[in-house]
Amino acid sequence: MKERLGKEFPAFLRSYENPVYKALRVNTLKVSIARFLQNSPFPLGEQLLFPNGEDITGFYIGEEKAGAYAEHFAGLYYLQEPSAMCVGELTAPCRKERILDLCAAPGGKTVQIAMQTEGEGILISNEIDASRAKILSQNVERMGIKNCAVTNAAPKQLAEKFPSYFDLVLADAPCSGEGMFKKEPEAVTHWSENNVALCAARQKEILDCAAETVAVGGRLLYSTCTFSEEEDEWQIRSFLTRHPEFELEKQEKIYPHRFQGEGHYCALLQKNEGERRNAKSYPVRRNLAANKAFSAFAKEFFQAPPQGEITTLDDGRMYLLPAGMPAIGVRALRLGVELGEFDGKIFKPAHALAMSLKRDDCARFVPLSREEADRYLRGETLACGCGNGWCVVGLGEYPLGLGKAVNGTLKNHLPKGLRKFS
Ligand code: SAM
Repeated sequence: MKERLGKEFPAFLRSYENPVYKALRVNTLKVSIARFLQNSPFPLGEQLLFPNGEDITGFYIGEEKAGAYAEHFAGLYYLQEPSAMCVGELTAPCRKERILDLCAAPGGKTVQIAMQTEGEGILISNEIDASRAKILSQNVERMGIKNCAVTNAAPKQLAEKFPSYFDLVLADAPCSGEGMFKKEPEAVTHWSENNVALCAARQKEILDCAAETVAVGGRLLYSTCTFSEEEDEWQIRSFLTRHPEFELEKQEKIYPHRFQGEGHYCALLQKNEGERRNAKSYPVRRNLAANKAFSAFAKEFFQAPPQGEITTLDDGRMYLLPAGMPAIGVRALRLGVELGEFDGKIFKPAHALAMSLKRDDCARFVPLSREEADRYLRGETLACGCGNGWCVVGLGEYPLGLGKAVNGTLKNHLPKGLRKFS
């Protein structure tokens, strides 16, 4: 680093004495920035500015327990490392694009992309590790993202299923984590020259698979949270010699002495030659009995039932598919909005459905105060004044989950694993 940074090296070293910067991203799928600023449950610091000066929806925060507020459970914000937010800002994806987030857990970039595309287009968020894929899926659910399929596959499997298909592919690759030494001190103990070489070899494989999935004219965003050239600049240089169909649009190295965040690297590449292929459409499985049960439920539950294709899986789970959803062909944890489950007789709504709605979508909505919301989040039963049946329960106007009203009592249907202190 001393050789590379020259005169800047002392400033780089001094940056390790600064605190770890924390930030949140306001979920503009659920709340406007202005509204969040009025109602934020804790003071917000400065708005984040990308090194090139662009405004983004992130704010620095000092709050240590930002994940414990009801607003967090309602998905009004996502906690994300400031430099990691900047990486996502490099792409500016368009609405209606086909996007693959290849190494997606826990979901920071996926959330960012979903906001940038305003929930339109197709977003496939993939995570190779099954337990991390589950966390990714929960975050997609909490943030109310409707156009996302969460998959659990190796990059090679996706390259085989989706050749030349995506307009934008993110490869936020596993790395040696040099940029995280301040935030995650254990990353220091995992570091070795050998591990850098192992990471570089794995990144090469990931990048080669990612490249196959990009359509001509599409972009590939590669990022790491390390400073090592083997994993960053040299990795991209060697990629470009293997893949002359790509050109480098820009690359950024984010250093902690130049920006209030940890270390990151990102490169944006464009594919200039090749083809654009379509994939087979998702094979919708219509189950008449399930659809009938859902329609009966929908009449009471929604102001206006959601439009779109509904598919019912073998296990009875029903999904509202985003328009244009392709056949996935790999293990999927989520395929758009999970509506609920049909057990052969009765339709039972899913937590994900509640999280995807706005207050005005719901025929029966129970707005709670902060204190009541905390009790709901702990799994308590509350009193309510609405008619019997399923209802969406919210912190003010923002959904937190489902309840079932029975003669003035609101039974708590927040999944046990999502409760506060669970
Ligand atoms: N993009 C995520 C975000 O913004 O929240 C962070 C991704 S993290 C830097 C890298 C991810 O790659 C990890 O979740 C890890 O499990 C996954 N991973 C590990 N080995 C992999 C491999 N061989 N292929 C693809 N992904 C891998």
